[in-house]
Amino acid sequence: MAEHAYDFDLFVIGGGSGGVRAARLAALTGAKVAIAEEYRMGGTCVIRGCVPKKFMVYASAYGKDIRKAAGYGWSAGEVSYDHGTFANAMHAEVDRLSGIYFRNLKNAGVEILEERAEFVDAHTLRLKTSGKEITAEKILIAVGGRPWMPSPDEIPGIEHAITSNEIFHLEALPKHIVIGGGGYIAVEFAHVFAGLGVPTCLVYRGEEVLRGFDADIRTAVHEGLKEAGVRVITGAVFDRIDKCEGEDLPLRISLSNGGHIDADVVMGALGRRPNTDGLGCDAAGVALDDNGAVVVDEWSKTNVDNIWAVGDVTDRVALTPVAIREGHAFAETEFYRRPWHFDHADIPTAVFTQPEVGTVGMTEAQARKEHGAVDIYKTNFRPMKNMLNGDMSRVLMKIIVRQSDERVLGVHMVGDDAAEIIQAIGIAIKMGVTKPDFDRTCALHPSVAEELVTMRTKWVPEETG
Ligand code: NDP
Repeated sequence: MAEHAYDFDLFVIGGGSGGVRAARLAALTGAKVAIAEEYRMGGTCVIRGCVPKKFMVYASAYGKDIRKAAGYGWSAGEVSYDHGTFANAMHAEVDRLSGIYFRNLKNAGVEILEERAEFVDAHTLRLKTSGKEITAEKILIAVGGRPWMPSPDEIPGIEHAITSNEIFHLEALPKHIVIGGGGYIAVEFAHVFAGLGVPTCLVYRGEEVLRGFDADIRTAVHEGLKEAGVRVITGAVFDRIDKCEGEDLPLRISLSNGGHIDADVVMGALGRRPNTDGLGCDAAGVALDDNGAVVVDEWSKTNVDNIWAVGDVTDRVALTPVAIREGHAFAETEFYRRPWHFDHADIPTAVFTQPEVGTVGMTEAQARKEHGAVDIYKTNFRPMKNMLNGDMSRVLMKIIVRQSDERVLGVHMVGDDAAEIIQAIGIAIKMGVTKPDFDRTCALHPSVAEELVTMRTKWVPEETG
């Protein structure tokens, strides 16, 4: 048998976080690796997700910081914000990062194919533009996901709405933005635009945003949106969107509750779907679930023996670091003879609201359901920094402890730097930390995080008549 009966040992479809990590690691073993990417290297996170989003969060926070600095004696005179200046800087940084991804792949010896690849069969791919067919022994599907929007049949005029893909390319700030949804993307951008001084309205079908998060976190974020000046409309969805040319606010959004709002930008943040349309998974025999996600086992292997999938396309946990770890585990297992698979338990995550959410482990509801008796420790306080700057926002911290052995099952926080704090707490949780471990840890004073190791009183629910 010839050593390279196939053109490549590994063909990776998709140059996002998971695909790039796997391709680069595999190629560093000397394996013959190709990666196909139809747009730009870096995927959702670098090009139209986490990275530019976080820059927008920073841009938005600076305005408030300038105002808040007055309480500390600073006066900045007239301040103004120029969206073009910021957007140019943001796009330049995205370009730089995408270039680094590209160069790292090249330096590792990966062949980069800048076009779309689709399956012909389980070992063959066709490049869409050139029509060239390529064979590979192993194939990794890492094509990610895309924003989901209802069809114009469901919501007439929905074509006037943009998604998070387009939000980074607005030439000027909106005069009035309406955002549909109550998940990560909706609440993050509601804060971004409110912070930039744009009248912002959030329309959510449920009662309280961030379904799936701990109930106390949801309440804090929901109330925080309103405190930030976001108009929050609950129990409603878009019914239709009409465009009236020439108006200052040309889009009229009619809601299911009978109301309407006028805006110049409407954004749908209604969830994301795996990017498998037209990929030819059926030609390769790769099974998809009802949502279009590639079905994989714990090794990220599909039902076809030589095909794997990592990242958002598998619809497991749609977070960049998860895709990277899945891609890393695949590459080490298949190309380094170091088999391991990623453990999806206790993944720390943040929502970059202002202030932000950081969370790791179980919510109170999950913990009660799975472990029965739990103790809750929680605190809600105005941080020292805000005492002089007029910011009324508070910090919420919550620790969920299994009663039987005092194991900490979850830690949740809303407050400045929650992401940074929870990242470190994530290590402790992974090590099986107990509440007595928290208790015997010396506080670092004065800090916000010290409250995590000084909470001693169990929270008791208030009597309800
Ligand atoms: P989410 O799945 O988080 O939220 C979707 C929202 O849209 C929910 O509030 C949902 O309501 C609502 N919704 C869904 N369908 C409809 C409908 N037909 N009509 C009205 N409302 C609807 O999706 P996002 O788009 O916000 O984000 C996608 C994923 O990207 C996240 O889950 C996360 O994994 C990742 N992400 C992570 C970030 C981070 O780490 N900071 C930042 C941004 C994204 P309901 O609650 O009722 O289901």
